[in-house]
Amino acid sequence: MNLETLIEKAAVISREVAAPEALTADRDGMWVASTMRALQDSKLTGLVVPEAQGGLGHGLLALARISEELGKGYSSAGLCFGMHCVGTAVIAAKSTGWQKEQYLVPIAEGKHITTLALSEIGTGAHFYFPQTPLIAVTEEDFLVTGTKSFVTNGGHADSYVVSTLGASAEAEADQFSCILVDSNMPGLEWSSPWDGLGMRGNSSLTLNLNDVYIPGRNILGEKGDQLWYIFNVVAPYFLMTMAGTYLGIAEAALIEGKASLAKRSYAHNGSGLASVGYLQHKLGILWANVERTRRLVYHAAQAGDHNDPNAMLLLLSAKAEVAHCVVDVVNEVMTLAGGQGYQHNSHLGMLMRDARAAHVMSPTTDLLYTWMGRILLDQPIFSD
Ligand SMILES: Cc1cc2nc3c(=O)[nH]c(=O)nc-3n(C[C@H](O)[C@H](O)[C@H](O)COP(=O)(O)OP(=O)(O)OC[C@H]3O[C@@H](n4cnc5c(N)ncnc54)[C@H](O)[C@@H]3O)c2cc1C
Repeated sequence: MNLETLIEKAAVISREVAAPEALTADRDGMWVASTMRALQDSKLTGLVVPEAQGGLGHGLLALARISEELGKGYSSAGLCFGMHCVGTAVIAAKSTGWQKEQYLVPIAEGKHITTLALSEIGTGAHFYFPQTPLIAVTEEDFLVTGTKSFVTNGGHADSYVVSTLGASAEAEADQFSCILVDSNMPGLEWSSPWDGLGMRGNSSLTLNLNDVYIPGRNILGEKGDQLWYIFNVVAPYFLMTMAGTYLGIAEAALIEGKASLAKRSYAHNGSGLASVGYLQHKLGILWANVERTRRLVYHAAQAGDHNDPNAMLLLLSAKAEVAHCVVDVVNEVMTLAGGQGYQHNSHLGMLMRDARAAHVMSPTTDLLYTWMGRILLDQPIFSD
């Protein structure tokens, strides 16, 4: 299916399901169940599943653009959809026949949600240094014990793509394996409900894995694949879905700022804010900020899809620049919207809380610029 048709489908779900669901999800901290159901029913959750397994076979540009549409309606919808797609891309990258049948086909059919569980409390933003061991119990099978933090779609997904220390005794400290943990495996224990400042519809929970038995067929890829996964799958897909989602928040704020200026007029002289030159100028600057950042995101996604040699720099910079863009734009619109915008539980207030997560979701903005510098200087990226 062509991309414009998919974007239109996502736009309808964003407007008609995600935006209304945001009201209760943000108030009560509830996972975006209705939006994810609609995305499954429309088969959009099969976006990055290869066509050979019945999926839509799209890549980074499609992921960024659909995440942007969803982010416009509700940022948690973009994030939950995005983490499902990143997990799916990791599964698809080097899947065995069994993994295709058990995971990719049901995902394409809209019957399975997966997600990515990399972060740990101990290593924080440095998600590429997991401490969770994978202990061999036989030649083929393993036990995993550890804790994963901020698992988006936590408690609602059907499977979890979990990173662990390398699946062999001789694995180096910076080597890891990715494993597929099914939601019904014995030994999974979830923390209390997610109660973030923003992004409240994510269900980003802490997951304790207590001696969870992992058959060898649930291991993804080969020993020593970890850097390949990080650079070729996790980073590009994660960066593009995040960049798209936060771009959607910036766009939603811009629309709100424009509407607020257009409708406000004063009783004492009948003049409207839309005719104030200074405010017109401010709105123009905000539009330019969103549009130039959008062009960077699309350009980076296309570079990634075409294996351009500069793709990694572009992808890293796109998420970092979107984070600055969204925080600045929402903040400035809050000023344009005056005291009316500054109401408890206003839509703009929610956008402001949600936008703030952009800088701290890893790779964080500070790490991204550092990594770019290291690439430019030909230094090892993960040197801390
Ligand atoms: C809403 C939300 C959803 C999330 N969803 C997921 C998910 O689905 N899956 C998942 O695996 N993780 C997820 N995460 C986790 C996220 O990616 C980070 O791992 C987590 O936010 C790190 O938090 P921390 O408090 O441990 O940060 P810390 O590691 O303590 O970092 C604190 C600050 O120090 C900075 N810092 C640290 N080291 C350096 C350095 N060397 N140079 C410069 N600055 C540095 C960081 O950039 C950050 O600003 C999510 C987080 C949030 C907030």
